[in-house]
Amino acid sequence: MNVTVIGLGPMGQAMAGAYVSGGYEVTVWNRTPAKADELVTRGAKRAGSVEEALTASELVVLSLIDYDAMYAILEQAPATALVGRTVANLTSDIPDRARRAAAWLAERGAVQITGGVQVPPPVIGTPEAMTYYSGPKDAIEAHRSALEVLTGIDYLGEDPGLAVLYYQIGIDMFWTGLAGYLHGQAVAEANGISAEQFLPNAIKTMDFRYFLEFYAPRIAAGRHEGDVDRVSMGVASLEHVVHTTRASGVDSSLPAAVLEVFRRGVAAGHGQDSLTSLVDVLKR
Ligand code: NDP
Repeated sequence: MNVTVIGLGPMGQAMAGAYVSGGYEVTVWNRTPAKADELVTRGAKRAGSVEEALTASELVVLSLIDYDAMYAILEQAPATALVGRTVANLTSDIPDRARRAAAWLAERGAVQITGGVQVPPPVIGTPEAMTYYSGPKDAIEAHRSALEVLTGIDYLGEDPGLAVLYYQIGIDMFWTGLAGYLHGQAVAEANGISAEQFLPNAIKTMDFRYFLEFYAPRIAAGRHEGDVDRVSMGVASLEHVVHTTRASGVDSSLPAAVLEVFRRGVAAGHGQDSLTSLVDVLKR
């Protein structure tokens, strides 16, 4: 029941805190040592060096801003400190860097489990929390109970880049979707409609489940017939959105960018096809 957590931003603090609450012997290290203070008062041990942090536990959880921070930290310790460690790298970055980090750690005798955490810090340790994982299945199984203190395990496969890829796809959808909400609310505010007033409509509009379940099988089958929607209809609709936005005095760069994608779809000959044909336009 030993675990080391390196990186004590809001996420690392939530993780180390969940281990302390779960009765683990928790060793923590952070570039800015003061961020460990509260955890230390709760029973965590502050490592005096990266080497001490790595050698304290077989399972080492990394929660850092990016993989450059991982190298900056791990290179402070002699390479021997990594031998035999399982590094649960729950740092977000890009798939290729996750693959390179797995190879880098393997050269030093450690195994990387890659993770992409799907929830914010307050949800860590609750039943709804999930993390995409990839990497060696046996390493994940060996540490299943410790990993499940943090979140459930959504295992994707052996490729160390896969968890990061799924994470980035989800975050892509999250940021563009959330930006859509913020933009729409800016138009609402400019017209005197408060966020609270519009909230019930926003919730209904942002619930894409029906569309996802309708479109996904068609995208998978490469079926883009315009029987229920057409790209040219989308162009007309987005032009109305852009005009309404500008008339409200609001920055129209977001809907204008979406309009541009739709126009490219029409230019590519998909005017009478379904919106799903835009997947092919974007892939080009
Ligand atoms: P923060 O950016 O707040 O944490 C950054 C951590 O990285 C801190 O420990 C910081 O140390 C360390 N760090 C940054 N630069 C360096 C460096 N050059 N050398 C050494 N250490 C460095 O992020 P969070 O805690 O919010 O998130 C951690 C990870 O979890 C990220 O990859 C994030 O994408 C992911 N995540 C976060 C979520 C969230 O809602 N917060 C949700 C899902 C995933 P110091 O304290 O000294 O600055």
